[in-house]
Amino acid sequence: MADKKSRTKYIFVVGGVMSGVGKGVTTASIGTILKSKGFRVSLIKADPYLNVDAGTMNPTEHGEVFVMDSGLETDQDMGNYERFLNQTLPKENYMTNGMVFKYVIDKERALGYKGKCVEPTYHITEEILRRINESVKKTNAEIVVVEIGGTIGEYQNAIFLEAARQLKNKNPKDVMFVMVSYLPTPSSIGEMKTKPTQNAVMQMNSYGVSPNIIVARAELPIDKKRKEKIAHMVGLLSSEDVIAAPNVSSIYDVPINFENDGLARRILDHFNLKPKQKDLNEWKKVISKSKKSNKEVNIAVVGKYFDTGDFVLSDAYISVIEALKISGMHLGVKTNLHWLNSKNFEKSLGGEVKSLSGYDGVLVPGGFGETGIEGKINAIKYARENKIPYFGLCYGMQLMVVEYARNVLGVKDAHTVEINPKTKNPVIDIMPDQKKKLEMKDYGASMRLGSYEAVIKKGTVAFSAYKKEKVLERHRHRYEVNPEYVKMIEEAGLVFSGKSPNGVLMEIAELPKSVHPFFLGTQFHPEFLARVLEPHPLFTDFIKVCLKK
Ligand code: GLN
Repeated sequence: MADKKSRTKYIFVVGGVMSGVGKGVTTASIGTILKSKGFRVSLIKADPYLNVDAGTMNPTEHGEVFVMDSGLETDQDMGNYERFLNQTLPKENYMTNGMVFKYVIDKERALGYKGKCVEPTYHITEEILRRINESVKKTNAEIVVVEIGGTIGEYQNAIFLEAARQLKNKNPKDVMFVMVSYLPTPSSIGEMKTKPTQNAVMQMNSYGVSPNIIVARAELPIDKKRKEKIAHMVGLLSSEDVIAAPNVSSIYDVPINFENDGLARRILDHFNLKPKQKDLNEWKKVISKSKKSNKEVNIAVVGKYFDTGDFVLSDAYISVIEALKISGMHLGVKTNLHWLNSKNFEKSLGGEVKSLSGYDGVLVPGGFGETGIEGKINAIKYARENKIPYFGLCYGMQLMVVEYARNVLGVKDAHTVEINPKTKNPVIDIMPDQKKKLEMKDYGASMRLGSYEAVIKKGTVAFSAYKKEKVLERHRHRYEVNPEYVKMIEEAGLVFSGKSPNGVLMEIAELPKSVHPFFLGTQFHPEFLARVLEPHPLFTDFIKVCLKK
């Protein structure tokens, strides 16, 4: 670990006071500014859950399940890391307590510890550090930033903190801690309060580690007086080690704010490193372009999972939102998303579905299960018949094929077996491998997951976006277009413009430009590959067409 030759630097990001104040974005932004200084960076998330991965977690409770190239299903923070860093990260960069404990327990059962007493504070921490080290090897990182999920003082993330303490103990100069804290300004007092942060630091000290930098999340930028107070009370080197992190209108402003408040300089000073270059220019250019624009598009996102109580749960679709926003930023267009519950479109085509004509485009994102499904199919029909730009992601593509089979091919009972396992016309069906896993109740592994190649047909809408014949895209689904129906559906006019290299699996479906301005669906999830500096071409082309409407 941290062998003396390479002298990898480690930054652990922890949360103080409360959760949900942006540790993930802080971690991604620290990575972005350090990369802009010319360092190879790796970003790791250590999640306290006992789930072995995020695949079985309900998005309404936990937000989106992100998928990595390797097929590992993770917390949505991994998505922010890749989008900010413009880098594909290996599976070693995500770990949960469940994953770590399972590995150690399985090893113990297989006599891997040769009869020793297996203990959390030695063997679990050793395994955590082994994983961090694996990530360093895979990414060749000079600086690795590890975000510890949860908040200081929780029982469940303490083991990660203990692993960090052990690493710091061995390599004091190569390890530092950043605490993302929250400074409330109670309206009755009207003053930004530092005490909760002081308490959080005291709690952190009880683990044998202390923060070197405090990122002060608050509604407004923290002032000099309070910076000095915190630095003095918690024992930071300088008040410059308290970094202002006020609320922002866009998370992509955060790296710029950090840069302006000297965060990268303080980190590099701590490690005694000199910047190799200085270039946040490309980033700044993209962000400022979006701010100057006065154009906008209004996109109807039709799905379920949108409301939990009084809240619209957009976290479940964060990669879709960001992919649209990023393409919009590059085109200088503001993308306004309107969350429409597909249940409202269930009744008849004459009713509410007509309201879709008021939008510049319709998008049906990924999903599972029966809720609101006929409403989604009605929405797709309406978009097809009324030439409203339509983009279907995964379920949104499968239902597009169901709709086409029913209403154009005339197979009235066409369906996906996910909803009707007995349908006589399973245009969307389960593949044999997947079926076996489901029968064994192995839900965690019953999907096609991760990066697969697709071959793009020339002269199609997909090809004009990608401008190349072979693409790699990430998947997360159990069902596929049934190969037995492909010929019939194609003869009825829908084009499968992307297929697996052996031609068996349908990856993209579309209508030719001469028939519809944009009616396209992907079996994969293109949203997982949109990056701030590299927007995804399908999202960009979708927005371009929406703009024309
Ligand atoms: N429910 C569909 C399937 O499992 C689609 C999944 C998705 O949209 N991610 O195949």
